[in-house]
Amino acid sequence: LAKSDPGKAGKESFAEVALRLGGASVDESKRTGLIDTADDQVEDLFAAQYKTTNSPVHRAVWDKLVPTELFEVEAMSQNESVSRVVEQSLEIVRKHRDGGTLLDEKGKITTKVLAELGTVGYWGLLVSPEFGGSGATMRQFAEMITQMATIDPTVAGLASVHGCIGAVDPVRSFGTDDQKQRFLPQLADGRRLSAFALTEPGAGSDLTALRTTAVLDGDDYVVNGEKLFITNAIPGRTIGLVCMIDGKPSVLVVDLPDQENEHFQLKRYGIYALRRANNNGLIFRDFRVPKENLLVPSRGDGLTIAYHGLNLGRVSLCANAAGAMRWMLAEMLPWGAYRQTYGQSIDRRELVRRRIGRLAGLIVACDAMTAWCADLLDQGYRGEMECIVAKIFGSETQKEAAIELFMKTHGGRS
Ligand SMILES: Cc1cc2nc3c(=O)[nH]c(=O)nc-3n(C[C@H](O)[C@H](O)[C@H](O)COP(=O)(O)OP(=O)(O)OC[C@H]3O[C@@H](n4cnc5c(N)ncnc54)[C@H](O)[C@@H]3O)c2cc1C
Repeated sequence: LAKSDPGKAGKESFAEVALRLGGASVDESKRTGLIDTADDQVEDLFAAQYKTTNSPVHRAVWDKLVPTELFEVEAMSQNESVSRVVEQSLEIVRKHRDGGTLLDEKGKITTKVLAELGTVGYWGLLVSPEFGGSGATMRQFAEMITQMATIDPTVAGLASVHGCIGAVDPVRSFGTDDQKQRFLPQLADGRRLSAFALTEPGAGSDLTALRTTAVLDGDDYVVNGEKLFITNAIPGRTIGLVCMIDGKPSVLVVDLPDQENEHFQLKRYGIYALRRANNNGLIFRDFRVPKENLLVPSRGDGLTIAYHGLNLGRVSLCANAAGAMRWMLAEMLPWGAYRQTYGQSIDRRELVRRRIGRLAGLIVACDAMTAWCADLLDQGYRGEMECIVAKIFGSETQKEAAIELFMKTHGGRS
C-alpha cells in the first residue's frame, strides 16, 4: 500500500506508533498502521467541522467540553413517500409472518417476500429519488429498521446489509454518474439485492492479509480468490467485491451470474448467526468483470470505500436491537402474567419485575442511541466514535436481554 501511495510512504500512523511503543512487532505495527491509514482517508472525506475530532464524544472526552446541543436530537422530519414505503413494507412482512409464509423450507426468508418488498420500494429507501429510491434520511431509515425488527429482525437486517454495507452505499457515495445510472435503479427496485464481500478465509480482522486479486486484461478485470461469510451473497446478487489491484485494496461492483459456473462458485456451510439470511463463501477463478465497474474514491483506496458505510451499518444494528428487544418484551409480558409458581403469577415477583423493567430501559436506551447517532450522520458528521458505541451497546444489550432477561424468564422452556 505504501508503495502504491507515495504520499503516505514513510509516514507512521498513530496506531503504528502506539503498537510499536507497546511492544508489538515491527510487522504487526506496520500492518495495523496500514488499516489505520485507510481509516484516516475516510476521515479526509469529511469537512473539518464533521471530522471525528469535532464530534460530540471526542470533544467531551478529550477537550473536556460537553457541547450539549450536539447531544440533543431534533424532531424527525417526515417524508410522505418514505412513510408509505415503510407502512407497506411492514404490512407485507406482518402478513407473511402471520400466514407462516415468511420462511422457505431451508428456514431462510423466501425470495417471494424479498421480491414483494421490492415492489413497494423497501430496497430503495437509501437510494435518492433521482435513481428510483425514496431518499430516506438515516433517521427515517433507522426508525424503519426498529419497526421492522419488531416483526422480523432478519428482514430488517437485510435492508441494512443491502443499503449500508452492500452495494448501495459504495455506488451512491463513490460511483461515477455512469455507475450510478447503471446500478442504482436496479438496486432500488430490488431487481438486484446486494452484499459486500470483504472477508476471506485468511483475512478477517487482519485486512492486510487480503489475497483476492483482479488483473486488467483488455476491457475486463480477471478476478481470482475466495471470500468467506458473505451475508446475502447468492447467485444473481450484486456485490461490492474487495480485491487487490496492483497491490492496492480496490472495490469492483460485480453482478454475480444467475447460476454457478466454472468461474464462480459458492462455498456452503452452516452458520448460526443470522441463520434466516443466506451467508456463503464465494470462489472466483478467472472471473471477468468489466473494467468500468471499478469504484475509484477521490481519496484512499478500496478500504476507504469499505469503511465508509460501516457507521450506517452500526446505527442500523442498534436500531435492530431496539426492535428485537421489543419483540422479546412482547413475549415476556404475557408469559409472566400466565405462568404461576406457588399460586402467584411470576410477573408479581420482584426478580421478574426487575427483568421487565430493565428490558424496557434497554429498549429506550437503544432508541436514544439510534436517534442520536442517525441524526449526527444526517447532519453530515462522520460519527465514528458515536456509532461504534451504538453498535457495541446494541450488541451487548441484546445479548443481555436475550440470555439474562428473556430466556431466564421462560425458564426451561427457552
Ligand atoms: C453472521 C456473520 C455475517 C458476516 N457478514 C459479512 C459480510 O457480509 N461481508 C464480509 O465481508 N464479512 C462478513 N462477516 C465476516 C466478519 O466481518 C468477520 O468474521 C470478522 O471480520 C472477524 O474475522 P474472523 O471471523 O476471520 O475472525 P479473526 O480475525 O480470525 O478473529 C478471531 C478472534 O481473534 C481476535 N483477534 C484477531 N486479531 C486480534 C488482535 N490483533 N488482537 C486481539 N485479538 C485479535 C478477534 O477479536 C476474534 O475474537 C460476517 C461474519 C458473520 C459471523
